[in-house]
Amino acid sequence: MSIEKYEEYGPLIKRIKESIQKDNFGQTIIIEGSSAVDKLSLTLEIIKGEICHNEKGSSCDKCIACKKVDKGNYEDLLIIESDSKRKTKGYSVSQLREEVIPFLQRKPISKEGISVLIIPEADSMNEASQDTLLKILEEPKENRQIFLLCENSEKLQVTVRSRSSIYRINYMDIDLENSMIEESKTFLNMIYKKEDFFTVKNFLEENIKSKEDLVLIIDAMELNLREILIKGGNQFFSLNRLIDIINILEETKDILRYNISYKYAMKNLFLTLTYYDDKGNI
Ligand SMILES: [Zn+2]
Repeated sequence: MSIEKYEEYGPLIKRIKESIQKDNFGQTIIIEGSSAVDKLSLTLEIIKGEICHNEKGSSCDKCIACKKVDKGNYEDLLIIESDSKRKTKGYSVSQLREEVIPFLQRKPISKEGISVLIIPEADSMNEASQDTLLKILEEPKENRQIFLLCENSEKLQVTVRSRSSIYRINYMDIDLENSMIEESKTFLNMIYKKEDFFTVKNFLEENIKSKEDLVLIIDAMELNLREILIKGGNQFFSLNRLIDIINILEETKDILRYNISYKYAMKNLFLTLTYYDDKGNI
């Protein structure tokens, strides 16, 4: 396995590989992409590309460094996990202080001499945690690297983003996307027409049978809406309305991350979307 495995994610993968080969990949890196992008696996391949003893930029899968990353026992790699039992979203300030800061303070112990931290779903961090993260980023240490994985980097503070190299992967699984693209258009049409409660409810119940289906239709809707957004809106949706809808979709994905039933999230989604107008009035 190597980073080439992810070529389907687009030309950016080649650029990532070249940056690693030139040793200028950066210290804080944001890897951004939809739920269809396996950001954690990609990041692990990037790290292997950096520390591989045989093939810089790629990975040989055979050297001790590659093997340790694959087995999850590389000494200088920390992937923090958000505590699913916690009621608040993402990572707490104390978790960052207790886990992340000591890890970055201690010198790398591996032969390769670099400590790497991965924060999955970094965009789920609240403001206080992001403030703590920013303080960490403001005191960069040599031979430390931080990967922030997210679906929407706009949720990170501007100051966090400005200290990072951002790699946005515009990729959706074509088959999966196609399976939901028509449904997403129909749903958007229903929102525009303000269809009645039962029509929308029946449509969604017929087409969405799992949490994964709901995430797919949301991703497909977002892709659609972002295209309209780039064009400055259209006759159906004003810019404000588009931004509103995208925010509501993002909030629904946040809810889904916390093991809330998809049926509840779906109901909440269509109630919010179908009964609010441009000014947020019901
Ligand atoms: Zn290797």
